[in-house]
Amino acid sequence: MKTMKAAVVHDFTKPLSIEEVPKPEPGPGEIVVKIEASGLCHTDIHAAHGDWPVKPKLPFIPGHEGVGIVESVGAGVKNVKEGDRVAIPWLGYACGECKYCVSGWETLCERQLNTGYFIDGAYAEYAKANAKYVGLVPKGVSPLDAAPLTCAGVTTYKAVKVSGARPSELVAIFGVGGLGHLALQYAKVAGATVAAVDLLDEKLDVARELGADYTINAKKQDPIEELKKLGGADAAICVAVSPKAFEQAFRSLARNGRLVFVALPADNYMQLPIFETVLNGIRIIGSIVGTRLDLAETFAIHAAGKTRVLYETRPLDKVNEAFEDVEHGRNKAPRIVFNQF
Ligand code: NAD
Ligand code: ZN
Ligand code: ZN
Repeated sequence: MKTMKAAVVHDFTKPLSIEEVPKPEPGPGEIVVKIEASGLCHTDIHAAHGDWPVKPKLPFIPGHEGVGIVESVGAGVKNVKEGDRVAIPWLGYACGECKYCVSGWETLCERQLNTGYFIDGAYAEYAKANAKYVGLVPKGVSPLDAAPLTCAGVTTYKAVKVSGARPSELVAIFGVGGLGHLALQYAKVAGATVAAVDLLDEKLDVARELGADYTINAKKQDPIEELKKLGGADAAICVAVSPKAFEQAFRSLARNGRLVFVALPADNYMQLPIFETVLNGIRIIGSIVGTRLDLAETFAIHAAGKTRVLYETRPLDKVNEAFEDVEHGRNKAPRIVFNQF
């Protein structure tokens, strides 16, 4: 039996272990991808800690920002071939038949399976994927750029889409991490004025470098007051892993404002006042990753030079240190990408 190196979660309270596991073989409709790069999404940390109401089945291999070259294809695969560069996203499988799948909302399919959660992910030399749910990485997009776009990119591109942000509007981005640094760029691409909120000055320096019009350090300033001074946010996108940020984002909205929930903190609840929601005509929108079309659009926007992906690379062996750095905001670049060439 052939084996490969992988980072495996055996226990929600213990570090990942780097070990030899069986190398996957493609079944019908499946491909095996030799991973070149995979991004560290905060979701991988939630998964490894069992933070959410629905937990992954142990043991499992995390990683849903995997990019690599198709090494082998199973029977019946038509949309990709050996040698293609593909991206393996969170939406690893959907049924293709339900009312969500047929109406362009495959991300809501009740029969979906998620990569790096219920399907082994990209923190390994090879990953198996359902061919229909991988994205083709366009020529001219490097694998190291493509990795963060595969979740952080597509998720925030979709979040900005559902926020309905228009060029005359103020969009507040709460959290300038892996997701946030791309969210603010999509809001700029949509033509909006952008305010970025974080707790760390270094993250706000990054936000300014990427075109944020205003930056607010929520440790030193009250983001509600600062955003109200600007007339209130027409849309607020919450990618900060903290219910407090969700509450501040709510209170910073202008009338007719939209609050988009994206982050998934382990602490699952926030205070949401009914009276102000009604009187101010607030809409609350939950947004989960993006479809295959959203991913293709995300790659096309990047290939057209409209976004910048900021990352630092680490070897996969250092996955546990990388998790700790992200949890404490110690990573220098917004995204850590495991370099697996
Ligand atoms: P990250 O750790 O890279 O970024 C989080 C950022 O939020 C950091 O810059 C941090 O300093 C900042 N922050 C923390 N508390 C804050 C506060 N109170 N106010 C302002 N900023 C604050 O994480 P990430 O990879 O960008 O992921 C963010 C969240 O989004 C995670 O919970 C992840 O699971 C979730 N996620 C959701 C989806 C989805 O489809 N809805 C997809 C991917 C990730
Ligand atoms: Zn993710
Ligand atoms: Zn479906």
